[in-house]
Amino acid sequence: MSQTEVTMKDFRVEERPTWCPGCGDYTVLAALQKAVANLQLKPEEVVLSTGIGCSGKLSQHFGSYGFHGLHGRSLPIAQGVKIANHKLTVIAAGGDGDGYGIGMGHFIHAMRRNVDITYIVMDNNIYGLTTGQTSPTSAKGFKSKTTPAGAAEDPIRPLHLALAQGASFVAQAFSGDVKEMTEIFEAAIKHKGFALVNAFSPCVTFNKINTYDWFKEKLVKLKDKEDYKPKSHIEALRYIDQYASLVTGIIYRQEGRKAYHEEIMGASEIPPVDADLMISEEEKIKLLSPYQ
Ligand code: SF4
Repeated sequence: MSQTEVTMKDFRVEERPTWCPGCGDYTVLAALQKAVANLQLKPEEVVLSTGIGCSGKLSQHFGSYGFHGLHGRSLPIAQGVKIANHKLTVIAAGGDGDGYGIGMGHFIHAMRRNVDITYIVMDNNIYGLTTGQTSPTSAKGFKSKTTPAGAAEDPIRPLHLALAQGASFVAQAFSGDVKEMTEIFEAAIKHKGFALVNAFSPCVTFNKINTYDWFKEKLVKLKDKEDYKPKSHIEALRYIDQYASLVTGIIYRQEGRKAYHEEIMGASEIPPVDADLMISEEEKIKLLSPYQ
């Protein structure tokens, strides 16, 4: 191993995570550390933005630049970072409540802009940090503190939404398979454009329905399906629909589309810092005087 080779250890921090033992979020953290190391990214080249929830702690435990923001707001921060310095590798992460509840508007707009970021949604079908309430991806009939008689609504279908919106990379992973999750994270980070990875990350403490065993029994691996060669978003959508979206793998990847910063800036240069932000009030007055 050369001295300069980046390893997972470069993305570790001293503080131990406080997630419950067995929480799927540990695998997401390990897979992400492995993915960026495999891509030989340096910690100072990576920014991870998170929202609120157990998932939000990811940025505290990942040894890169990070921003732990407000509920549902990991995407606005990530998009701002990428536009300000698109040489950085920018990753946003959050939970199903964070991203598909309060953050839903940001999700749709980030996809239509094709901002060159990776968005990892740690989907455990429940609100974990607040001790177990029905979330946007909980199944109809799901019983929790907030829906003791069972959820009345159909769940959000994030993969359908992403495909219908024309997201340029759509994938799904499972915390019970760290190898496949790592491969998917690597592909998502390498993709130029918006990459959604819905990552099933079981909440072992509060969700006794969507457990590791439940997912292992139901999930279908797309890489084992020889007939899976979708030529369009709609073909991909129809295919995964027959499995009720319980699939893992890269569902659709669209190459060659311009990323948002290329659309608005054209060149690949980092935009200059606004001089107004760097000078004193007196200097500003002097600068403006020719026009007054
Ligand atoms: Fe993980 Fe659930 Fe514990 Fe939160 S409450 S750390 S999601 S197992």
